[in-house]
Amino acid sequence: MDSILQLEPALVWKHFSDICSIPHPSKHEEAILAHLILFAQSHNLSYKQDSIGNICILKSASPGFENRETVCLQAHVDMVPQKNSHITHNFITDPILPYISGNVVKARNTTLGADNGIGLAAILAVLEATDIPHGPIEALFTVDEETGMSGAKNLEHTFLTAKYLINTDTEEKNEITIGCAGGLDANFEWNISRTPAPDDYISCTITISGLHGGHSGFEIHLGRANANILAIEMWNLLQKHIPIHVCAIEGGNMRNAIPRESKLIIAIPKRKKQECTNLLSHYISKTKQSHISSDPHCSIDITYADSCPEIIEQELSQYILQALVQCPNGVISFEDITRGIVRTSTNLSIINTRHNKLEVNCLLRSFDTKEKCELAKNMEKIFSSHKASCVFIGDYPGWKPQWGSPFVQLVSKVSTSVYGYEPHIHAVHAGLECGIFLGIFPEMSCISFGPNISNPHSPDEQVEIESVGQFWQVLIGVLQAIPVKE
Ligand SMILES: [Zn+2]
Repeated sequence: MDSILQLEPALVWKHFSDICSIPHPSKHEEAILAHLILFAQSHNLSYKQDSIGNICILKSASPGFENRETVCLQAHVDMVPQKNSHITHNFITDPILPYISGNVVKARNTTLGADNGIGLAAILAVLEATDIPHGPIEALFTVDEETGMSGAKNLEHTFLTAKYLINTDTEEKNEITIGCAGGLDANFEWNISRTPAPDDYISCTITISGLHGGHSGFEIHLGRANANILAIEMWNLLQKHIPIHVCAIEGGNMRNAIPRESKLIIAIPKRKKQECTNLLSHYISKTKQSHISSDPHCSIDITYADSCPEIIEQELSQYILQALVQCPNGVISFEDITRGIVRTSTNLSIINTRHNKLEVNCLLRSFDTKEKCELAKNMEKIFSSHKASCVFIGDYPGWKPQWGSPFVQLVSKVSTSVYGYEPHIHAVHAGLECGIFLGIFPEMSCISFGPNISNPHSPDEQVEIESVGQFWQVLIGVLQAIPVKE
């Protein structure tokens, strides 16, 4: 067997094969959207498209299921374009070439787009099939999930009427996602002025590197060191013992990552060099010891130079330090401590000293919008009382898990019957489209499940063949079990 067209369920793989043949990286979804419109037209299904590109295709209930609640089946149409460096591949013009490798389907040297192409294919299969019992369906295809979820964010509240929404973007079989965190970017900024360092001062550069880092949502509770926090701790330690001045602090470069590297440049009196080294050495050995399992490759280097860059004005640098010391970081509260599910967190992601500004970026996440707002207010109070200007942007709502809700029970029952064991029901501490949907359609009940996809967003992306069939069985099982309208 060499073609994915020979795999079962045939209709799902046929649609997935079509999807692979149409280029659809994020921000270049025109061709796949045109394909969906053509599909709706050729199957006499009504559809609508909004101004950002999202499409909703409607299918009426099969005979005997007209009295069921409406269900929205949802997938994002874009994929992450990643390839191995030794090949040429134009994601805007070239098709993805899927092939079977043992028990999985992969692509030749590129991402496969099983994320979320299998979900998309399964929904098209439901729309096309004539032998699957289901109530009224609204099939929602969103654009640009992978680079900011702008499709979901721009949905009009009149675009859907469904009571239930099934998102197909979960990447572990027999796993049911029932919650996700909302987010908020907090940006703090000081205007700084600089003066030359006093005559007898030398510079000391402290460079932190080799930390584990990781995703600031999924991995925030793992106790990994934050390079910016280490730099702040050393600044705070030194200024208690030595009359230091700060020249610059720089660390982190991605708003959603735990920073792995940070650099602090200070000015110290030349005569205090040994004391400085002693204080730092003690701190470094203590820190390495306490992070030996989370960050085994932690490296902190100290270098001295006779010439000294300009220093940040002393009074202001004290305000900056105090705000940074007080800035909350890491896990704020747990939703479920035994399952390691974080409810609210914040990550001190980026610190930048530019020409005349010092900027700090934190990314706050929470399942609970109220708790996230309280955290934001607390941080605003800390930074504004230390002379920083505060801007909060990019607010998006969370999806608070309803662990025992009737919809969760329904899907979990179907999933158990397909897989033969109980599903893993969980909530993720990161943003998903469902969180955005619930902000727009607060009355909706959402759930997410999908097939087994490994290494998404990389050229090693693969989908387990058997799990596609199981995902399909759960999907049509849930459609059949959707309750009668109230
Ligand atoms: Zn996805």
